[in-house]
Amino acid sequence: MNEPVLRIDSLVKHYGQVRAVDGLSLTIGQGEVLGLVGESGSGKSTVGKCVLRLTEPTSGTITLGGRDVTHLSRRAMRPLRRDVHMVFQDPYSSLNPRFSIEQIVSEPLLRHKVMRRREAGERVAAMLEKVGLRTEMMSRLPHELSGGQRQRVGLARALVLEPKLVVADEPVSALDVSVQASVLNLITDLQRDMGFSCLFITHDLSVVEFLADRIAVMYLGKIVETGPTAELFAGPRHPYTQALLSAAPVPDPARARERRRIVLGGDVPSPLDPPAGCRFHTRCPLAFDACRTVDPALTDPRDGDHPAACHLVTPERRPDAAVPGRTLEY
Ligand code: SF4
Repeated sequence: MNEPVLRIDSLVKHYGQVRAVDGLSLTIGQGEVLGLVGESGSGKSTVGKCVLRLTEPTSGTITLGGRDVTHLSRRAMRPLRRDVHMVFQDPYSSLNPRFSIEQIVSEPLLRHKVMRRREAGERVAAMLEKVGLRTEMMSRLPHELSGGQRQRVGLARALVLEPKLVVADEPVSALDVSVQASVLNLITDLQRDMGFSCLFITHDLSVVEFLADRIAVMYLGKIVETGPTAELFAGPRHPYTQALLSAAPVPDPARARERRRIVLGGDVPSPLDPPAGCRFHTRCPLAFDACRTVDPALTDPRDGDHPAACHLVTPERRPDAAVPGRTLEY
């Protein structure tokens, strides 16, 4: 099997008392898109920052293309930055307001000494065309562009070096709903055309349904379920994923009627003091006594690649087998 482009093992990131990420493992293969989904406060953005080394992990390892980069110095990391790029949520604040679009998109080419300034213009023009922008835009400043156009510039900058991995952190959530779909379609087309791997971070499960090959659902610093996208959408195993999916809009009214809406009470508890046992027990409609004390492991009941961290998914291993009538269908 090919070496994964990204491998994260037992990642922990604590900010003082805040346990933002608490033992998370995942891999992304070549050309694969992983949708990392969770509510605000789940720690999903912290994972992206750790991958790019914008923040130092507390423990665990991060491997890019087979190389352990967890403790590399900034200097040693520099050549690897060619292969990993980020697309940010807010396309406005992530673009230097005083730089022209040409300067912004050519900056990675010049920083990594791929070409000289005079040669870069052609590459920038080709890249802008790829993201659906006219080359006349090269001389404009970011404030002269719409939000959707600015995010296209952000994509052009991230992709101009043809990276192996793109970390996209909520790339469409700051955009008007009317332009979200066109930017998502563009990302899908670019990914298929250029073949980069992608860690796509989002709070909205429906955003990644047609883009991601696999989904990982995060809750309070941990993955609670992961699996191939179609399988996870057809048969979510964890009560949290079931609740997220039941709240997502369904375009087909017949399917919408079939879907029972599960409303979760309360907010995500503070990562300063996550609940003991299963972290989801304070909001889980199916919680039982043992959930308050025993943390369920991420397990696939059929030994496949669709594990979930819930005692009800593996009833034979349930810590409280005495509770009757509580099983999940999958
Ligand atoms: Fe709900 Fe218990 Fe399963 Fe956690 S382990 S998701 S609290 S049923």
